[in-house]
Amino acid sequence: MAKYTDSVCRLCRREGIKLFLKGDRCYTNKCSIDRRPYAPGVHGQSRGRKPSDFGIQLREKQKARRIYGIMEKQFRRYFEMASRQKGMTGENLLRLLERRLDNVVYRIGFASSRAEARQFVTHGHITVNGKRVDIASYLIKVGEVIAVNEKSRSSSRIKELIDTMADRSVPGWLSADSNSASGTVLALPSREDIQIPIEEHFIVEKYSR
Ligand code: SF4
Repeated sequence: MAKYTDSVCRLCRREGIKLFLKGDRCYTNKCSIDRRPYAPGVHGQSRGRKPSDFGIQLREKQKARRIYGIMEKQFRRYFEMASRQKGMTGENLLRLLERRLDNVVYRIGFASSRAEARQFVTHGHITVNGKRVDIASYLIKVGEVIAVNEKSRSSSRIKELIDTMADRSVPGWLSADSNSASGTVLALPSREDIQIPIEEHFIVEKYSR
C-alpha cells in the first residue's frame, strides 16, 4: 500500500489549518503551522491567486483525506460507498470515515493521533467484542466494545495513554472507560457529532464533475 512518508506538518501548512496529525505535539508551541504559517515550498510565502472552484473542491477533499490519513484510491472507494447509501452523500462519506476502527480508537482516547491509533490496530493491540481486529479500516457498528488487548496494557506508551484518557473529550456517540481500557459504540455518528473543519459538499462537487 502506498504510504505518505514526508513530514506531516507540511500537510497542515499546505491546507493552512491545524489537522492535528502529530498528537500531543500539535498542542504545544512546537507546532509548525504556528511557527511558519504559510504553505511549504519556495513559493509558500508569495501571495497566491484567488483559487478556482476546482481548487477549492480539491483542497477540501485533500483536507478530509489528510485528516483521516487515507490514500486517494481508498478515499474514492469510500465516496462510491457513500453515494450508494440513502441520504446525503457528503454526510454519508464523513460518517463512513468516522466509523473506521483507527478513528474510533483515537476518538475514545487510546491514542493521541489517528496515525498512532492505526499503528496500535495493525500491531494487534485492539480488540472488538473481545476479538483481536488488526484492520484499521474495519467499520465499527452500534453496540460493539472496543478495548485495548489485555496483554498490551502493560506497554508503557499504552499505559500512559490509558492513564490520561480522562483528559480527552469523547464524542457523544461513544463512551470510554479507563478502568477497563474500553469504549462502547452507543450510536452511529451524526453530522453534528463530527467536529472537523470540512465542507463536504465541495468533495461531492469534486467527484461529480
Ligand atoms: Fe499540524 Fe500537528 Fe504538525 Fe501542528 S504539530 S503542523 S497541528 S501536525
